[in-house]
Amino acid sequence: MKTISEKVAYIEGLTDGLKIDGGTNEGKIILALIDVLKDVAAELEDVDETLDDMAEIVSDIEESVYEIEDEIFGSGELPDYDFEDNLYEITCRNCDNTVSVDAGMLEEGFVKCPNCGSKIEFDIDIIDSDECDSGHDR
Ligand SMILES: [Zn+2]
Repeated sequence: MKTISEKVAYIEGLTDGLKIDGGTNEGKIILALIDVLKDVAAELEDVDETLDDMAEIVSDIEESVYEIEDEIFGSGELPDYDFEDNLYEITCRNCDNTVSVDAGMLEEGFVKCPNCGSKIEFDIDIIDSDECDSGHDR
């Protein structure tokens, strides 16, 4: 595909080949138009270059963001306390049975041990962090 500059250069070549006379009214206009076209083509090339530079800068920034993201959240792996669908392993203090609890059960604040039936209350960090302020009923 020809660039705009190449097409303009072709037209400019035609004016030479066809002996467009810059002394006539029509010739003046045609040559002036070609001048404008050359300017437009040059500007477009500048804009193209600027866009390429910008694209490079944006992808650099994108890369940095990914790196920062990795540093904050770890590479790809979700943290243990992701509330969406993770199960937590809680050990019953009474019988040492390991009980899996999900986020919904965590919000309850305790779970009943299926092995010995005693109430296991949670005292892990997740609970205290934001959801519950212990001791206060809503
Ligand atoms: Zn138990």
